[in-house]
This record gives sequence, C-alpha cells and structure tokens, in this order.
Amino acid sequence: MIRPGVLSVAVETPRHSSVGGLLDYASEQTLPPGTLVRVPLGRREVPGIVWERAADAPPPPADLRSLTAALSALPPLDTEWRELIAFAASYYQRGIGELALAVLPPDLRKLDDTRLARRLKRLVTAAAPGPTAAAPEPARPELNDEQAAALAAIATARRPVLLHGVTGSGKTEVYLRAADAALSQGRQALVLVPEINLTPQLEARFAARFPARLMVSLHSGLTPAQRLRHWLLAHLGRADLVLGTRLAVFASMPRLGLIVIDEEHDPSFKQQEGARYSARDLAVWRAHRLGIAVLLGSATPSLETWQRALEGRYLRLPLDRRIGGGAMPAVRLVDMARLPRETQHERVLAPPLLQAIGERIERGEQSLLLLNRRGYAPVLHCGACGWKSGCAHCSAWRVFHKADRTLRCHHCGFAERVPRACPDCGNLDIAPLGRGTEKLQEQLAALLPGARVARLDADTTRGAGALQQQLGAVHAGEVDVLVGTQMLAKGHDFRRVTLVAAVNPDAALFSSDFRAPERLFALLMQAAGRAGRDAAQAARSEMWVQTWHPRHPLYAALKAHDYEAYAAAQLAERRAAGLPPFASLALLRAEARSADVARAFLHEAAALAAGHAGVTVYPPVPPPVSRVADVERLQMLVESASRSVLQRMLAAWLPGLHELRARHKGLLRWAVDVDPLAI
Ligand SMILES: [Zn+2]
Ligand SMILES: [Zn+2]
Repeated sequence: MIRPGVLSVAVETPRHSSVGGLLDYASEQTLPPGTLVRVPLGRREVPGIVWERAADAPPPPADLRSLTAALSALPPLDTEWRELIAFAASYYQRGIGELALAVLPPDLRKLDDTRLARRLKRLVTAAAPGPTAAAPEPARPELNDEQAAALAAIATARRPVLLHGVTGSGKTEVYLRAADAALSQGRQALVLVPEINLTPQLEARFAARFPARLMVSLHSGLTPAQRLRHWLLAHLGRADLVLGTRLAVFASMPRLGLIVIDEEHDPSFKQQEGARYSARDLAVWRAHRLGIAVLLGSATPSLETWQRALEGRYLRLPLDRRIGGGAMPAVRLVDMARLPRETQHERVLAPPLLQAIGERIERGEQSLLLLNRRGYAPVLHCGACGWKSGCAHCSAWRVFHKADRTLRCHHCGFAERVPRACPDCGNLDIAPLGRGTEKLQEQLAALLPGARVARLDADTTRGAGALQQQLGAVHAGEVDVLVGTQMLAKGHDFRRVTLVAAVNPDAALFSSDFRAPERLFALLMQAAGRAGRDAAQAARSEMWVQTWHPRHPLYAALKAHDYEAYAAAQLAERRAAGLPPFASLALLRAEARSADVARAFLHEAAALAAGHAGVTVYPPVPPPVSRVADVERLQMLVESASRSVLQRMLAAWLPGLHELRARHKGLLRWAVDVDPLAI
C-alpha cells in the first residue's frame, strides 16, 4: 500500500481570515507543484493549486484530509509563475491562494479533469496558428535613427528600458520590432496597455504585422469563455503574443521573452481593490527574474520610473521627434482673470478660444475640448435657502444629468428625478452650479450655430460598441467639435484634430493628493499629443489651456513641452517632502457604519505598529469623499524612507491586524494598500 503523501495547497482564503497561506492535504498521487486541484475546506469543496511545501512547515495534523480531485490534464503552472504570485502576495500583503486563484480565469474552476482534457484537445487542434502565408506581411516603415538606436540598445540592455517619446514619435514601431525579435527567437511577448478601449487599435497593428502568429487578448471585457480560451492558449505556449490590461501581467507564459508596458505612467496599471498590485511594477520584477527585456513606454513617465532612469537603474532611450517631422502643438494659456467680467461670470469659453474653434470648423478641421467632469452640472442649488443636491448616502453632491433629468451620485449610484422645486423651501427656481460635459456641449452648440458638436464620456459610451461607433464618427469627419472627459486624451489617433483645449484644469493644481499635478501634466501632454498627428497640419495645431493661474510652473513646462524640467521640479519637491519616489508608503484603510468604529480600529493598529524603527505612522484621516453608500471611510498613512524596512514592518504588523479585526466587530472592511496611488 502506498503511504499517502502530504501536499501543500494554496486555497482561496484571504489572508484576512484565520486560515491564511497554504493548507496541507493528503494525496495518494504525487502531484507536481502548480497542479490545479480541488480540496475540501470546511464543508465546501474549493479549487486550489499545489504549492511547494515550505521546509519549515509544521508537521501535518494527524487528521489530514485528502484532496478531492486533481486537474492533471492541465500542464502545471510553472515555477516562474508561482514565484511571481508568491512575490506579489508577499509584497502586497495578501494570501498566496487568494491572489493565485483571483488571477486565473474564473471558468477554469468549473471544469473537471475530463472536460478540461477535452477542451485542451480541441484548442490545440483548432488554434494551430494558421500561417496564412498567402497574406503577405505589410511593408515595414523605415526606422528613423532614434528608433534604430533604441532597438539596438534594447537588444543588449540588461536593465529595464524607458522608451521616452512624445505622442507620435513611433514608440509602437519599436514595440513591434522588439516583439519581432523575441518571436523569431521562439519566445512569447506580453504587451500591457492601460485600458480595454485601447486594445483594439494596438491589436490591429500587431495582427497586421504578424499575420502568421497567434495573438490573444486578456482583459475584463472578454466573456468568461473567451478569457479561459485566451488564457489557455497563452499557458500552453500556443499564443505567441498576449495583449492585455493589468490582469494580463499574471498570464502564464512558458516562453515569455519580452514585456512591453505602454503608457507606463497610467494609474490604471494599479489595481484598486482586492490585491492592490501594480501591474507595471510586477512586470518589471517578472522581467528581471526571467532576465528578459522590459520596455516602459511613455511621453510623461511616472516620477518613480523617471527617478530610476536618472539613477541609471533604468536605461532611458529618447524618441524626441515626431514621425514625419510634425511639431508638437503650440500651447496657449488663456488668463481667465483678464477676461471681461461678464464672460467670467458666464464661464463660457474665452472669446479667442471660441474664435479659434470657429476657424477650425471653417477649414474642415476638428477640435477636442477636455473637461474632466461629466453630467450637466456638478450640483443643483437653491438660491432662496441654500439647499444643494447632496447625496443622502455619501459625503458628495449628486450630479445633475439633464439628458434624463436625474440627480445622480457618481460614488454610490443613487439616482432620482430632478425635483420640480427645492425640497427644503419649495422655491421653484433651483439652478445648476458649475459645468459638466453635457452643459459644455449645449453651450457650444448655442455658440457655434451649425457646428456638429459631439460628446464622449462614460455616459455616452455605456453600450457595447458605443465608443468605437463614436470614434468612427470622429474619424469619418462627421464631428466638428468633440467634448469629453480624459477618455478623449488617451491614445486615439485623430488625424484631423488641430486644436485641443483644456477648459478648466486648475483644480488638480491644488489637490490634497500629491500626485494630482503629475497626473494633470501627463493628461495635458497626452491631450496635446492628440493635435497635429498629421504632419501636414502640425504647424498650425494648438493646445489651449483656460486657467486662473497662467504663471503656474506646471503650465510653463507644458508650454515648453518640457517634461524634464517639470519632472526635475516635482522631484525636488518630493525629495524635500519625503514623498515617493524618495519614500515608500502604505495605506491602512478601514470602513465602518460609524467613523468612530473605523477610527478605533486604526488607533489600535497604530499602537501595534509602535516600536518599528524607521517607520512613521500618521494619524487617521478621512479620504476626500469620506462617506460612500452610508459607509464611513478612514485611512492611515504609513511611511518609511526604505522600501525593505516598510516591507518588514508590514509583514510583522499584518498578523496583529488580523487579530485586531476579530475584536472590532463593527468594522466592515479593512485593507492594506502598498504603494497607493490615490492618497
Ligand atoms: Zn430652497
Ligand atoms: Zn452617493
């Protein structure tokens, strides 16, 4: 009789529960680490992954339970993947099984071994990359000397590469060539982009370049069945190219040879719930571990990345010129304080800007207007009694949406018909305060009779395909002026746009979030890049900024298209203030029905943290919107000049927090956010 062996299994219990980490099970089969299994947990049967048994693991209990089933049809998840998961779980303070199972396609757990084997067999035969040898590969554009130099440097680089190039400087061509090099060595390439919306364009370019290669996408917009299929193709090594959003960083790719992170500065690479990982940072870690190239592309690198490039830890490769010789648009700052009083009051567009838009329309060119606030007006107001359209469940105003006459809370979703009269005093004259994209569109339509004014924001792009349809209309020249939120600034290659305007960007200059100016600068640079993509029009392309602070250094740097000067100034401020990238941060967040409960938890947590040298724990504070859906939120900042000191402190702190949580019954949720992006 075979003595049952002991296997360690990663199961999906958060580290927040009492059963963190790995659990032991008996198995009559010898299963290699990385094998998917099903195991009993309490009264349930749950999926798990066989993991290395730690050398110092305690002896298994006498009443060891046996695993229920093994999915041996699936090749085990390899060591490299398990190391990535183990690192991410430890760095972001989560359970291994919690993270590992969260990043696998959900449909994987629904299959038993027989069905999985059948599925894999079908996949292998169906997805044999059909070398459509008949379809000739399109002619490749000539590389300019900057691109050629970048590629040569990438081939020999032994550190992460920052591809620092303005919009239109040909970064994508460098990605394509680098991918080609990896593929021709029999490796797989992983390309990460910030948003699903941007995947179709990039996908089309990769598909055109590599017609004989199998490419799959991985993002949250896929159906569960598609996601499983694509994931399996990557895992089996059948797919040569994987293109996806942040979750794709966890794709199992046995032949991985290159990682590209496009728009590396984009905040959406950071997951905002569950395991709050940074896909960019994990990609860099993964590439380093594998000894493969990683390309970080951006016109406005994150200050973390930029600082590493300055220190020589990353290799900076500049692409300073736009392809075709187009210039960056001239930046014009409109000093709102100097406008005539009546236009200030109306807060319509500055007359010179309006005139510039009118001239574009006459020439058949397009204009983009950026306003980072959707809806008609951010708040309704009663002049008689001072009532404002607050949300009953959040510490926020409800936004007036004129199209469907609702007041909608953008935090909890609470929506109601707009009242006919003031709910407090009955006054019939309640008025919108401020302006959102809906109102801007309405105002423009009135100011520019005959102009075709369209709007692009989260409200107009809700339905499937709505965004592509709207973008199609812009490309087809059916739109003269496009109003929208920051969605507009991202990646879309508008050929006929010669004017971009930021209507009211000042708020970010004075935000309590120290990263807000960095994000604003990136957004405005990116928006500027939308103008003059066509070299012939570049000379008369303009970026307009309406501001009450025209002498602010951020706008001066924008005017000069000088990222480096801006980064230098920001880094000096960050260094003086002891902020990232010169310090490491973590946030402990707590949520409860009452702020007192959350505060009590955080105070006790702070007491637990006392005595960790080199770590500062700040008093609990509410985030900018402190109450959402009747839940009070508080957060506590933990800071250290040293990343490893902070990591050691967090690892020691967490077990105590789990115990603490058990004693604070009123606490709804708590979480540690390592390297938080929003403070
Ligand atoms: Zn009133
Ligand atoms: Zn609300």
